[in-house]
Amino acid sequence: MPMSKAFENRLHPVLAETADHFGTPFHIYDETGIRETGAALKAAFAGVNDFREFFAVKALPNPAVLAIMRDMGFGFDCSSIAELELARRVGARGGEVMFTSNNTSPAEFLAASADGGSILNLDDISLVDKVPEMPDLVCFRYNPGDRRTGNDIIGNPVESKYGVSRDQIVDAYRRAMGRGARRFGLHTMLASNERHHEYMVRTAEMLLDLAARIGRELDVRFEFLNIGGGLGIAYHPDDAPLDLAAMGQDISALFAAFGAENRYMPRLYLESGRFMTGPHGVLAARAINRKEIYRTYVGVDACMSALMRPGMYGAYHHITVPGREGRRPTEVVDVVGSLCENNDKFAIQRALPKIDDGDLVLIHDAGAHGHSMGFNYNGRLRPKELLLRTDGTVSLIRREETLPDHFATLRFQADDFRPGQRS
Ligand SMILES: *Cc1c(COP(=O)(O)O)cnc(C)c1O
Repeated sequence: MPMSKAFENRLHPVLAETADHFGTPFHIYDETGIRETGAALKAAFAGVNDFREFFAVKALPNPAVLAIMRDMGFGFDCSSIAELELARRVGARGGEVMFTSNNTSPAEFLAASADGGSILNLDDISLVDKVPEMPDLVCFRYNPGDRRTGNDIIGNPVESKYGVSRDQIVDAYRRAMGRGARRFGLHTMLASNERHHEYMVRTAEMLLDLAARIGRELDVRFEFLNIGGGLGIAYHPDDAPLDLAAMGQDISALFAAFGAENRYMPRLYLESGRFMTGPHGVLAARAINRKEIYRTYVGVDACMSALMRPGMYGAYHHITVPGREGRRPTEVVDVVGSLCENNDKFAIQRALPKIDDGDLVLIHDAGAHGHSMGFNYNGRLRPKELLLRTDGTVSLIRREETLPDHFATLRFQADDFRPGQRS
């Protein structure tokens, strides 16, 4: 959903002062909202044995936010060395960290096992022989192959590079056992921004069936099933939200049935990113230009370096102009950044209240895959991140990038190497 009324009521009264103090543009995240969603997730799965959310770090990789997740008892889903390091910096160790990499390098395996370790989630059967040391507990990511997803971002699993195939999955566990694995998990990730809870229920059902089958064939039990992330949020005001309570109920019932039949109950893991933080962040920018050619363009002081979902996926992000809503006639405009790419537009032909230079513009639902997906093409730097805490404090949790940051890797004096001239 576009930002909740409650978030609006917390942010609007402090927005102008915050923008004056810190300067625009900035992402600002709402601790209260994040905690409420975390509590809703726990409540929805209160009926299953030992539910745990592993927050997908890539959605919002900031230690202040990770600390909130940890405080709620959540673990972390990491897929790179940097994400592992962040999870550890907030104190997560061992079973609190799930390492779900793909096309994994030896350096990543080392990092995953170092410093307290993590749950290794292997993406391919060939990796069984490449893990330097097979851990006691191992998990595989399953790719079921032909299965209609109806989902653009992940696509058809047959064409997806992720996971172990249907034909390989039993053998994968057998070979891991051969190398010493004794405890098992099973994982899949088949959705992205999915708002139909039935889809997640079917995913859970598929994993439960598979766990039962592998269990029979290899005489093993699964400690946990991880149904992945991909829970959707309503970006557009007309989007129906995901029915979290129904999803929790249906999945709990499936787990109960599995327990009755197999005489044990695996834990349920989820690794949601977007659902946890997406609606609880906005990108605040200031209008700096207005241009009237064939269309009207409102230029703001942020660009797709801060949020590339509209440019990359044509994604809708709701926009509001605090203090102007309902007080000014609307007009149809494109809201744009300064990048030399014509897809650097936060909104295309959108009806908004008339915006003047200097007005603050809020781009909603930027709390996941927003700042973290940013990039520096065209020398455009990423903005700062703020956290609106439950006690009303506004904390700077990442400063904006500066030119020295951007130039830090350049060698204005090149380091030369002449191949063939050994010394
Ligand atoms: C990206 C990702 C997630 C999180 O996806 P969301 O859509 O943010 O919930 C979870 N697990 C894996 C393996 C991912 O790659």
